[in-house]
Amino acid sequence: MRVLSFLIILTCASTFAQQNLNQEFEAIESKVIEWRRDFHQHPELSNQEFKTAEKITAHLKSLGLEVQTGVAKTGVVAVLKGNHPGKVVALRADIDALPVTERNDLPFKSEVRTTFLNTETGVMHACGHDTHTAILMGVAEILSKHKEDIHGTVKFIFQPAEEGPPPGEEGGAKLMIKEGVLENPKVDAIFGLHINSETSVGTLKYKTGGIMAAVERFVITVKGKQSHGSQPWSGVDPILISAKIIDGLQTIISREANLLVEPAVITVGKITSGTRFNIIPETAELIGTVRTLDPDMKAMIIRRMTEMTQTLAKAYGGEASISFQNNTSITYNDTELVGLMLPTLKSVAGDENVKIMKATTGGEDFSYFQEIVPGFYFFLGGKTPGSTQAFPHHTPDFKIDESGLLLGVKTLTQMALDYLNQN
Ligand SMILES: [Zn+2]
Ligand SMILES: [Zn+2]
Repeated sequence: MRVLSFLIILTCASTFAQQNLNQEFEAIESKVIEWRRDFHQHPELSNQEFKTAEKITAHLKSLGLEVQTGVAKTGVVAVLKGNHPGKVVALRADIDALPVTERNDLPFKSEVRTTFLNTETGVMHACGHDTHTAILMGVAEILSKHKEDIHGTVKFIFQPAEEGPPPGEEGGAKLMIKEGVLENPKVDAIFGLHINSETSVGTLKYKTGGIMAAVERFVITVKGKQSHGSQPWSGVDPILISAKIIDGLQTIISREANLLVEPAVITVGKITSGTRFNIIPETAELIGTVRTLDPDMKAMIIRRMTEMTQTLAKAYGGEASISFQNNTSITYNDTELVGLMLPTLKSVAGDENVKIMKATTGGEDFSYFQEIVPGFYFFLGGKTPGSTQAFPHHTPDFKIDESGLLLGVKTLTQMALDYLNQN
């Protein structure tokens, strides 16, 4: 009997807490939209998010959080200690914009212009990172009022340069990790989301395992022997060797990769060689990208590309070398963590609104966090329901329906609470 009444009190208390939380969610929506519009109107490129960081910092400090600034150049990290001991969960938002000139007719349209890689361009939040930043500021505000419900610690990570630092600079998730963002306190799990302009408002999309691709950039240098175009027998043709290599590389995908496991892509995007029609040149350079979603396939593809490049060049009397530069790792959702958090996603969005998606061959540097701690990355709907028009990311027409943002706040808040309470 005693146990029963204790349980009833507990249940009432948690129902009461949930009602409170629901009211707070409703109340914060207009603030989140206002912040988002401000960021949208004042976008800043990767590693230059100075004003953005100032605004985030001011907000987090006003909540009484411990705030660290200048992490990985312009990143902001805040720690919220709950009233009860427990694990540490990190929530991550990326904060940078893109060199894209906005074509939308909005009252908060970006008019910002800059010079990027010697080209004059507009600056725009054309990937929706303004929404991520505003959502996480909302989550921080709500959670900071619920210390008594938190069993552990929440770390808020506002990350610069997700789109990649400018050439020659370090930045993004990689640099944040290098500067210790996952330590002190040590993070046990990390969650992140991306708004999606082609998914309806109210929907969450996820996938277990590889959800976004590892992105490698590769450069192949082919060395032949220069000769007169009329006398190919006296030289070694690097253009012919390049053609054989391109052909060979595609057979790694079509004949060697088990595409039933995950898709994979090799693209040669640029070829440079030669000066005029009657000279067989000395060298050729091929530049391209590899996209993979499974760690073993990635290792196999890189090994075979290396072997094939060297062997084919040799077979035709020349030499070739290949180098890879890693731009992002596989955004890899930990199976156990997804299983643990899926009930939360479903309770917040409704069973029917949590959908399994296919992997995408785009990349995301959230993947670097997931190489170190288990993580769960998912997509949040930002398309007007019923609309047949979607405005693709990274384009001047990119547009988001702001009524989708509140679900992002609710989901991340509840994920943090549930993860810490379950542990
Ligand atoms: Zn992007
Ligand atoms: Zn993005």
